[in-house]
Formats: sequence, structure tokens, C-alpha cells
Amino acid sequence: MRVHNFGAGPCTLPADVLEEARDEMLDFAGAGMSVVEMSHRSDEYDAVHAETLRLTRTVSGCPDDFDILFVQVGAMLQFGMIPMNLAGADPVGYLVTGAWGKGAFEDAALVANAYPAWDGSSEGFRRMPDPGEIEIRDATRYLHITTNETIGGIRMVEFPDVGVPLVGDMSSEYLARPIDWDRYDLVYGGVQKNLAPAGMAVVFIRREVTERTPQTLPKYLRYDWHAKTDSLGNTPPMFPIYIMGKVLARIEAGGGVEALEAASARKAGLIYDVIDESGGFYTNPVAPDCRSHMNVVFTLGTLDLESRFLSGAEERRMIGLKGHRSVGGCRASLYAALSEESAAALAAYMREFAADNRDS
Ligand code: PMP
Repeated sequence: MRVHNFGAGPCTLPADVLEEARDEMLDFAGAGMSVVEMSHRSDEYDAVHAETLRLTRTVSGCPDDFDILFVQVGAMLQFGMIPMNLAGADPVGYLVTGAWGKGAFEDAALVANAYPAWDGSSEGFRRMPDPGEIEIRDATRYLHITTNETIGGIRMVEFPDVGVPLVGDMSSEYLARPIDWDRYDLVYGGVQKNLAPAGMAVVFIRREVTERTPQTLPKYLRYDWHAKTDSLGNTPPMFPIYIMGKVLARIEAGGGVEALEAASARKAGLIYDVIDESGGFYTNPVAPDCRSHMNVVFTLGTLDLESRFLSGAEERRMIGLKGHRSVGGCRASLYAALSEESAAALAAYMREFAADNRDS
């Protein structure tokens, strides 16, 4: 029996995708081998690659003047690649909104003239800035934002309009909300949350920005090289790309980004309702208008209660609820393939646990 997997990433994937991959593991499309064993120059793989690229564009609504790249590693490599490709000598602004925004800023500061355009660390990363609080310096090339902070459980409701192009880390809410492409020069994210097994990032980059890639960088670090080769310049991460194609096909059939966005809001609402109605038994530290739909963080009164809550959850086959090691507490991640039934099961368990332990 499968668990209710509330892990923050890697995370749950649709069971029928896993079953299909299992069935194709010994013989994909009559090739007598799996996708992960065949040449990345074969016709069979080429069709998989092209179809995943096509679906990525149609499901995301990405316009034709953006390139879509599959780059190995994950979001963290992008922390360095983005300033190396885009910044030149210009200043680049970063919203330090949590662990990931901070990480992106720190890496950028190593290779570019990066500055914090807002820093929420002194407030404990409980909210996103209001647009008026963002300070953009002259000649800023881009503003980097993290639209959903996976660890702090905070979400940016509006993409800020601050007069410079945005670069967005959307790792933990990829395709779970529509993107205002006009504001962006680049959107990226690791795929291991809503879309696929770990191993790569998808990068959406405005083509005129791709074309300005500095030719002094090593090939793999150059966006124009990935664009020119259709992300097939070297051996691509074939397994994530193959699984991602299947996941995207299901997202498309299920109503696309709008349906995912609505489902995420419903799932998160179930958990926030329990927190808000618990009379302080559970607390969520986030400013109400910045509550994440993907990662719901909460604490219980004592560490003992928390650890009993987590063991009770495991007995009910609900896993991945422990908060990030840097902040503690609990966190329920509600990515695309987590069913509304799983979210409802967690909400019911939270209610039951609060009722049984309120006076302990
Ligand atoms: N940004 C965000 C918002 C994340 O949630 C993560 C991973 N949890 C990262 C960046 C780092 O991504 P990766 O592990 O794919 O390098």
C-alpha cells in the first residue's frame, strides 16, 4: 500500500505514471530495453525528449520567444548560472525571503555585483515584501525572486512590478500557478516537486537574453549552448525527462495549471482551517496573506507533542511531515500528485490528535 507522502521534495508522483514506467522498464516502445538504457541519439528517445519539451511549453503557457532548457543538477546550479550568464558588470537585486532566496543571493554575490533588494531575515522570514519595500538600485539587470519559499512556507501572491525584469525560482510551485511571462527574463526550478524525479532543472529564458550569453563561460554553463542543442548537447537526464512527460500529459488532461492552482488552494485550505480552528494547538507563523499553498508549516506546543504527532502520523502511513532541519516544527508539502484525499486524511488526523491531546 502506498503512503501519504507529504515530503518536500523529492515527493510523491502519480501512481499510474509509476506503473506505466514499471511496465515499460524492460521494453520501451518495442526497443527491447528501457528508456534509461538506450542511446540519447536514438529515435525512440528523441520522440520522448521532443514530447516532454512540447508539453512543457503548452502546459506552462510559455510564449514562443522563450527557450525551454533542461539543465542537469537542479535549481542550485542555476543560482550560479543565472548571474554568470545575465549579470555582466551590472548590479543584480535579490529578494532575501527565506533559505532559498538567501542561498541564491549568496551564490550570486560570489560571481556578480549582487545586492539584497529586501531582506526578511531579521523578521524570521515570515512574509514577502510589499512592492514599496523593494529597493532597486540604478542599472539593475534583474530582480531575483523566490515565488514560494519551501522551508519557511511563504508565497508571493503578486509577482512584483519594479521596473526591471524578474528572474524567478519557482522550484516549489512550478506549474501550480499561471506565470506573467511579460515580467520575466527567466523562470527556473528543480523538477523534483511537482513534476519528476530529481536530477535537473527546467529553465525558461527569454530568447533575446539567451542570445547575449557570454562566450567566455564553459559550454555546459552557457544558456545559448543548451538552447542550440535542444538540451541534447551532452547526455541528458533521460529518466526525469521521460517521467516528466508522463506527468505533464496527466496535468494537461486534468485541466492544466488552472486546475492545479485551484486544487492546491483547496488542499492547503483544509490544513490551514484545522490550524486556525485549533485554538492555538497548532500555530502557523506566516503572515496570513503570504501562506504557501504548497508547503504548510506548523508547530505544536512542545517538542514532545510534536514527536508524538509525527509518530502517530507514521502509524497512519503519513510520512515526510517533519519540518526542515534548519527550522524544526512540522511541514506538510502538498505538491501536484498529492491527492485531496491525502490532504483530507491529514486534516482529520490533526483534528483527532488535537482533541486527544489538548490538555496534555
Ligand atoms: N529553490 C527552492 C525554492 C527549493 O525548494 C529548492 C530545493 N528544495 C532549491 C532551490 C534547491 O534545489 P535543488 O535541490 O534542485 O538544487
